[in-house]
Amino acid sequence: MNERKIDYLRISLTDRCNLRCRYCMPQDIASVPMEEILTYEEICEIARAAAQEGIRHVRVTGGEPLVRKGCPDCIRMLKEIPGIETVMMTTNGILLQKFLPELLEAGLDGVNISLDTLQRERYREITGYDGLEKVLGAVEACIQAGIRTKINVAAAYGLNDSELLDLAGLSEKWPVDVRFIEMMPIGYGTSYHGIDNRQVLEQLRERYPGLTEADPQKDAGFGPAEYVQIPGFRGRTGLISPIHGKFCGNCNRLRLTSTGKLKYCLCYEDAEDLRIIVRSGDPPEKRRERIRQMFRGAGKRKPLEHHFEQPDQISEKKKMSEIGG
Ligand code: SAM
Ligand code: SF4
Repeated sequence: MNERKIDYLRISLTDRCNLRCRYCMPQDIASVPMEEILTYEEICEIARAAAQEGIRHVRVTGGEPLVRKGCPDCIRMLKEIPGIETVMMTTNGILLQKFLPELLEAGLDGVNISLDTLQRERYREITGYDGLEKVLGAVEACIQAGIRTKINVAAAYGLNDSELLDLAGLSEKWPVDVRFIEMMPIGYGTSYHGIDNRQVLEQLRERYPGLTEADPQKDAGFGPAEYVQIPGFRGRTGLISPIHGKFCGNCNRLRLTSTGKLKYCLCYEDAEDLRIIVRSGDPPEKRRERIRQMFRGAGKRKPLEHHFEQPDQISEKKKMSEIGG
């Protein structure tokens, strides 16, 4: 066990999604009944207690956060919590342009848009929906609106290995960081062979010999990405390497699932049920103290490191959309 500074909480608003990505939720699966999902008030009760224990940055995710009714209201409520400095979102981008004005008005600080291919037909094959144009339109709308925007690419053989340089090229055209995430053996991701980011870097170096390490201080973010800068590009290229560049020693995050489980590490099922606490009927001060205790103990409860390289060690059996990616 090891104690780390924990200041980042990823909150899953829903396990539902409007896409069917092959490596995440390839077909319809039974969604959790709405009564088992935390209400926005319950989420904020937890976030308020978490902020009192040092959580400063929140990211809403899912499933697809924008399919949950009133998502911008939740952003607004989270932004109002004393101590929470930033509220960001990870989204597939399909509904983003539609909700962007409301999200901006609610105070959203940044958005990560998931995009694994630039080929229309391949996008449809990967996600089950002909939505590439919508996602690209959302990226442009976000840039125009001036909101901090990043593109996340889950990289795997047989999925998008032939397109990595094209995807990196988005940050030549646009002032956005493009980040490659090694596919993790979670849920349906187990049937893919993730691309080692060291190979991505090699491809980038070969194509762009002038590539340099990016200034780590610039727009440092709150996560584990390592950035390089391609000369002449407006944005950076990020490498998030949970498999071939374990960053567990610096992992500053916890996850709250849509049903209220506080998770310490993606690899293990170990979690604390906070929904029981918020629905206990205890007086608010007692509930708050109980939730605070869970966050106080979280640094010690995080495992030293994950063992995704040893499949028999992975105790988490839930799918990424249920956990909150
Ligand atoms: N629906 C939203 C989206 O797609 O951005 C938010 C939830 S999704 C689970 C969050 C991110 O997790 C996406 O970028 C997706 O590509 C990534 N993801 C899903 N399964 C993964 C896996 N097994 N390994 C690595 N990343 C994964
Ligand atoms: Fe939905 Fe995101 Fe999973 Fe794709 S990766 S199925 S968009 S939750």
